[in-house]
Amino acid sequence: MMKFEQFDVSDEIKKAIKEMGFEAPSPIQEKIIPEILNKRDVIGQAQTGTGKTAAFGIPLLEHITKEKHIQSLILTPTRELAIQVAGELQKLSKFQKVQTLPVYGGQSIGQQIKSLNRGVEIVVGTPGRVLDHLNRGTLKLQNIHTLILDEADEMLDMGFVEDIEKILKQVNSNRQTMLFSATMPPPIRKLSSKYMTNPKHVTIDKGDVTAPSINQVYYKVLEKNKLDSLCRVIDSETIHLGIVFCRTKKGVAELAEALQARGYMADGLHGDLSQPQRDLVMKKFRESSVEFLIATDVAARGIDVQNVSHVINYDIPQDPESYVHRIGRTGRAGKDGIALTLVTPREMKHLRSIEAQIKMKVPSRNIPSVEEVVEKQQHVWKGQIIDLIENDDQGMTLYDTLVSDLLEQYPPEKVVTSLMKLAFYSRDDMNDDSYDFGETGAQKGMTRFFINVGRNVDLTPKKLVDEVSRLVGISAQSVGRVDIFENFTFLEVPEEVAPFVYEGLKYSRVSGARINLEPAKPRPKRK
Ligand code: ADP
Ligand code: MG
Repeated sequence: MMKFEQFDVSDEIKKAIKEMGFEAPSPIQEKIIPEILNKRDVIGQAQTGTGKTAAFGIPLLEHITKEKHIQSLILTPTRELAIQVAGELQKLSKFQKVQTLPVYGGQSIGQQIKSLNRGVEIVVGTPGRVLDHLNRGTLKLQNIHTLILDEADEMLDMGFVEDIEKILKQVNSNRQTMLFSATMPPPIRKLSSKYMTNPKHVTIDKGDVTAPSINQVYYKVLEKNKLDSLCRVIDSETIHLGIVFCRTKKGVAELAEALQARGYMADGLHGDLSQPQRDLVMKKFRESSVEFLIATDVAARGIDVQNVSHVINYDIPQDPESYVHRIGRTGRAGKDGIALTLVTPREMKHLRSIEAQIKMKVPSRNIPSVEEVVEKQQHVWKGQIIDLIENDDQGMTLYDTLVSDLLEQYPPEKVVTSLMKLAFYSRDDMNDDSYDFGETGAQKGMTRFFINVGRNVDLTPKKLVDEVSRLVGISAQSVGRVDIFENFTFLEVPEEVAPFVYEGLKYSRVSGARINLEPAKPRPKRK
């Protein structure tokens, strides 16, 4: 394994790296730092969380001279990222005399101009605000030697391409240009061929991305129980900070509200929030006064918060790339991380294509039972109650009459237990038997389904069993009897997976045909 010592950079930088606790360069750092040190233009393509900031930051700082003018410009898509990148550079330059300034919209431009006039070597900014400064003449780019486009694909998504081109035209052509991006869509390639000189393309392929320190698990959940299933899962885990991903903005808003209503410290982050609102949510999350950040992929992109213990996919992502992006938010800096994914029957095919892409099987776990949740939460609840007993005597008097009434009529144990049920169980109204298939005439422990197609669509037992086993992730052997007739079929599956098979087969195609599925009616008993 390579060491930071081996890079040809100053002792001041090496000392700062050590203080930051980095043990060894990440794969992208190992490959790209020597190229940048050689003043080559580079394109660095790697997922979020792979250490791209230090990959350009370390050699950049090595190239900063004592001259008092702006030497480098870094463009980032958002204010969040500008602050983050500036912060990382400040840490890396702790033992050097280098000033780094973030500039972004929403902050007083006068203040920024003052700071710029005081003299800075590195400016990290969003394209809009940087352009603003260029137009005012408060920022000059004729003498910079390094230009960095960070999260280029994200800047593209946000419609910054024109702004970026305007900026690039004002930078002296005799410079080193670097571009970092998780993906390389055609417009980014075009940008790079137009504004970069013979760039070296460094890619960290997906195989390197799924860090082994991230424990991945999925839970089979039914569409209609999704929210309750999520609550059970989070109640049964020890979560420090969790990011919960939803597919849509609307989903984020709804889930955030639902979790808040159930007493979780949760808040949502999505594209419709104003910048100050976003900042406030992120601040609370960093300070842990919000424990669960509910977000869409876009809203959460590039956000780097240390110590995220769990990434939870409430909605499984459509494509494997965003799965890898998402789970990369945990397990940072060598710490353990846990990635939990809820998968409904309709979403099983997404899970399978993710598994194919990351080249590993994600193990499944059952949704915890109420008993497991209660066991796990006991000490938390106890703490909350003791806290109330010891610190809130004022609010108590309010209930004096009620308390003495109840205690007169019932033993204290009974009163307390009932109150606990009221307080803690009420959030868990998941109905375990959410499907009652009744008696289906199956063998013991099995459920029998009637399917409205048979040999007429060339259905074979193998085709059906394969579909079921793929769908619910059980072995072909544990699927029960299959009886195929000309126009219909009977299928038996283990009781515990029956609801999942039921929801799943309804949305899949068997032998090319959309099917209809119903619990079978028991055959009349022979006398
Ligand atoms: P990216 O830009 O690729 O999404 P970042 O540069 O934001 O990733 O880095 C993600 C996190 O990993 C940051 O907290 C950073 O301090 C940390 N990090 C970067 N390089 C290393 C390293 N070599 N060892 C340990 N942690 C690192
Ligand atoms: Mg980054």
